[in-house]
Formats: sequence, C-alpha cells, structure tokens
Amino acid sequence: MTTARKILHADCDCFYAAVEMRDTPSLRDRPLAVGGSPERRGVIATCNYPARRFGVHSAMPSARALRLCPELRIVPPDFAKYRAVSQQIQAIFHELTPLVEPLSLDEAYLDVSEITAFRGSATWMARWIKEEALKRTGIVVSVGVAPNKFLAKIASDWDKPDGLFVIVPGDTESFITDLPVKKLHGVGPATARRLEELSIETCADLRIQPLERLLDHFGKFGRRLHELAHGIDERPVAVSRERKSVSVENTYHHDLPDLASCHEALAVLIENLDERMARHGNPAIGKQFIKVRFNDFTSTTQETGARGIIHARFHELLDSAWQRGSRPVRLLGVGVRLLPALEQRQLGLFDAASEAP
Ligand SMILES: [Mg+2]
Repeated sequence: MTTARKILHADCDCFYAAVEMRDTPSLRDRPLAVGGSPERRGVIATCNYPARRFGVHSAMPSARALRLCPELRIVPPDFAKYRAVSQQIQAIFHELTPLVEPLSLDEAYLDVSEITAFRGSATWMARWIKEEALKRTGIVVSVGVAPNKFLAKIASDWDKPDGLFVIVPGDTESFITDLPVKKLHGVGPATARRLEELSIETCADLRIQPLERLLDHFGKFGRRLHELAHGIDERPVAVSRERKSVSVENTYHHDLPDLASCHEALAVLIENLDERMARHGNPAIGKQFIKVRFNDFTSTTQETGARGIIHARFHELLDSAWQRGSRPVRLLGVGVRLLPALEQRQLGLFDAASEAP
C-alpha cells in the first residue's frame, strides 16, 4: 500500500502590488496596479483587491484598466525588489523541505511527505509558512494542502486572500465532484469551450464519460482529463526547473512600417540578447529564433537548426518571417534555446568553440 503524498502550493496574494503596498502605505487602500504605462501599450502585471472590484485583472491592457477604474494608480514594476522578497520567501520554504519547485517569483510547490517537523502535520507546516512569510517580509501567502499538485493549487486559490485550505485524501472525491472542468490543470479556454459543447461542465460530468469518448475528442489529453476528474495527478514536485531559452522582445510604441525598419530594430535587440547571454554566463545554445507580431496581431516565429548565435542569421530569419505578413510590425523578439545541462557539460568538455558568438 502506498501512503498519500502531502503537497503544498504556496502563492503570494497579488504579489507585486502587495510589495508596493508594503513599501508605500499611502497606496494601501486605493486601487493599485503594477504594470506598464497606458501610453506605451503597457499591460497590468498584478493589481490589488480594491482594483479587482472594478474588474481590473492581470494581462489586461493598462489603458482598458484605467477606463474601468479612472482612479487606478499604476506603478511601474521593480523586479529587483520583487526578486529579493521572493528569495526571502523561498528561503522559508527551504527551511521546511528541500523539495521546492518554484513556478514563478511568488508561487511554489513543496513536497512535505517525508517531513517529520510539526509532527508531520502539513496543515501546521502551511500555517508556519504563512506566519514566517508575514513576519519576515510583510507579505501574505495563501497555501493549499492536498495529496497532489493539481489539488494543492486549487486549494491555495480556494479561500484567497490569506487562505489556508486543506484537502485531506478522504475528501478528494467529494471536493472534485462539483469542481468546474475549467479549473483543471491544462484546460485552457479552447478546451473548456469544447468540453462545454459536449455538456461537460463539472468533474462529475467528466467522470461519467467513457475514457474512449474523451480519447476520441481530446487525444492523449483525454486520458489526463479522465485522471484529473478522478483526483489522480502523479506529477512529482520537480526540484530544478531548467531555463530553456533566453530571449528579448520589444513592443514598439509606433509600428515598424517596413522590412528595413525591422532590420534596424533587430540590430538593437540582438545587442540586448548578447548582453543578456553574457549575464547568464554564456550558456551553450541550440537553435536561435525570431518572433514577429504584425499590426493585425498575427504572430509568426522562425528558427534555425544550427547551433550558436550568428547575427546575420537573425536577419535572414527576419526576412523569411516578415514575408509571411508583409505589413507593419508591432513586436519583434529574438532568442536562443539553451541546451540541457548534461549536453552543456559535454560541450564544455569537447566543443568549447561552440560558445563563441
Ligand atoms: Mg500569486
């Protein structure tokens, strides 16, 4: 018999906004967002609860947020500050368990199955994390406790803000039954719509579907849906998430009217990419790629198979990517995919030249 795992999902409440409210008390009780300026087509990264009452949410264009909430105060992000707070909070997690999987600056999974502190009570551990985070950083963390990752993530969101919600193994069945399918891990808007067309709205609806029907409609993901609806999620807490690529991109204040102006802008981006690669210690790279978004919001990407950064190659990629739209460009991005760590080590031993620009 296998014993159930104990997984925590910790998630700071409106993290960037919370840090700004902590540091500037006058911002505390008014609608506040962290994001880009509306004049430069910025978007909202995070907003506080007073702003959410006006319908403002993350990823919304700042201009639209201001229309919904004219008194909204939008402050530019200070990522250095957020990273510092994030490190303090991550340090708390690591005092509890080495099995920490960060998902972003303010969110992580912890596997505490083997932890004997707090008499092995995951609920007490969750409470301790919340207390320590508040004491050391002034930031409120919501924590979910469950036998697997997908349920832990739903639990942390369950009674936000300042939530602590526990799904014990015996309760998973009844908890999942009423859960809307759009809350399931991996179900985006498109899949949610297709499920709705099949009259599948809750996990209870999903559970009565024959597996074959789900496989017919959703391919391999059908099996995953079937498992999730039965509360099954065996994904381990993966301790190190490797960086897979390095890239820079820019949304232009004025659209780039033609191919020549794109090449000019591209040269600047490549310089920025070189700098960023240097900051990462010039890791060994695989393919290089380019991203183009046209002024009709269609996007295209193009990449090469060869290894190493060659500036001229980015310009060739731009030529072929631009042909697909042949219209003014709103956003350009360049990047490189990194080789897995093992391969990098081997390259370091056998092929040091591949790291030269
Ligand atoms: Mg969060």
